[in-house]
Amino acid sequence: MSAMDERTRATVPERIRNAGGLAPGVARSVSKATGMPEAAVHGVASFYSLLARPQMSIRVCTGVSCRLAGADALLETARAEGLPAEACSCLAACDAAPAVLKDRRVLPQVELADLRATQGDWRNLEVQGTQRDGQWLGEIGQTEQERMGPVFNLAGVPDWSASSLQRARELGAENVLSALEEAGLQGRGGAGFPAHRKWRGMRVQPETTRYLVLNADESEPGTFKDRELLLRRPDLVLEGLAIAALCVEASDVYLYLRGEFELPQRILEDALTRFRGASDSIGLRFHLHGGHGGYICGEETALLEALEGKRGMPRQRPPLPIERGLFGKPTLVHNVETLACVPFIVREGGAAFRAQGRTGPGTKLYSVSGHVERPGVYELPLGICLDELVAAAGGYRGELRAFIPGGAASGLLPAEQRVRPLDFESLKQAGSALGSAGVVVLNRDVDLAEVVRDQLRFFEAESCGQCAPCRIGTHYLREAWDRFMDGDAAALTHVEDASWQMNEGSICGLGQTAALPLTSVLRHFEGDLSGDE
Ligand code: SF4
Repeated sequence: MSAMDERTRATVPERIRNAGGLAPGVARSVSKATGMPEAAVHGVASFYSLLARPQMSIRVCTGVSCRLAGADALLETARAEGLPAEACSCLAACDAAPAVLKDRRVLPQVELADLRATQGDWRNLEVQGTQRDGQWLGEIGQTEQERMGPVFNLAGVPDWSASSLQRARELGAENVLSALEEAGLQGRGGAGFPAHRKWRGMRVQPETTRYLVLNADESEPGTFKDRELLLRRPDLVLEGLAIAALCVEASDVYLYLRGEFELPQRILEDALTRFRGASDSIGLRFHLHGGHGGYICGEETALLEALEGKRGMPRQRPPLPIERGLFGKPTLVHNVETLACVPFIVREGGAAFRAQGRTGPGTKLYSVSGHVERPGVYELPLGICLDELVAAAGGYRGELRAFIPGGAASGLLPAEQRVRPLDFESLKQAGSALGSAGVVVLNRDVDLAEVVRDQLRFFEAESCGQCAPCRIGTHYLREAWDRFMDGDAAALTHVEDASWQMNEGSICGLGQTAALPLTSVLRHFEGDLSGDE
């Protein structure tokens, strides 16, 4: 395809949305307008949950924290009221559980009465109280220390002076890169890859057309820190992007927000206007892009496919995105939080950032939900333990039994691990992962077998299906667990082999880690599951 055709293809998902989603005749009309084969348009439409089932205007989050807060009853009531409702995976609102998606707007703390008040018309669904206008913000701490973390200062007022960008221009790219290396900043989206190595990798590419992509497809169950950062401090995100673009000599920045982030998208649109003077001063163009559903689009190469208007399926590597990324050009992809660290590093220096951490460099935004008094986002030194995080969040509700330290792909850990540092290395040693630091706390009232079942169902549903070990393995594991919980003691005989196959033969992290909820529970709780179910 020519460059022109690529740009046209990139508009396909939005055209499908504007035509009302997947419905008879839509694929044909979009095909005619774009030249993409009709079957290929259908393939795109059917991939994204918000396009594939547009009639489902109400989606009830059935992630762990929302189910603990009564999501099952909400879904049942919504259906009983005649609303077009279905279950969905995490809406990045675990601190405001149970959450419901109304078209593309997340409603927090929805109650049964809210659903009953609709009189069967989904458009009438609103929540009571201060959130009615849709401008809700999450909890970020009670004490000054918790609220005013040094790197992000979530309680602070956005600063549009772009002084760190100016400082970066004075320092020059090489000095900024040295500061980044000294800071030890690792990607905050889950992989933990050193940021300076990606930036240096971009700078040596012979191709001079280069792109930068913001990954704001925050979908890892239990994680909602990027949402809060975008709502409260979009200035840090845009300034971090501008500094990165300056250093890797990228001219265009693509901002990819998950489709359910209607409110963060509105905030970001306003922020882009405020930041225009700074971005114009370095000749930078921003392109805002809303996704259309699909957990896997948070994987960076899947996200690139989605931006190109295709089904959001992860790519084989090599080549790496910094070699051949968006539209075949070198592309630097970073998570929201990673970029928001950059202004501090430029302003205060790499050593100052590093010193903020405990067992790893810098502070970290931890999302915490489940059985804690004040679920929310807390900026704390990297490497604090669960007890310290929960103390910041007002304490435990009930007696701790288990916790999820870093999203669904990190498995479960037992209460004895409550003093283990929540950092990249320590959790890896425990057979888990920090991931996106989406911490879910589970007390003794929780049915762990059901939590495992939910997570296995989640991976089965969200596998994009292109690798056989992942497609078949996620289905197999969920079925095996169902049989095991129904009393078939031999059902898990081949689980170890299946998880090895999945780990070895899958393209991306989903297939490589999808067995962890099951294997971690067998490892830590096998003799303790009899009371569950
Ligand atoms: S591992 Fe699973 S989700 Fe990842 S590319 Fe393969 S099939 Fe898709």
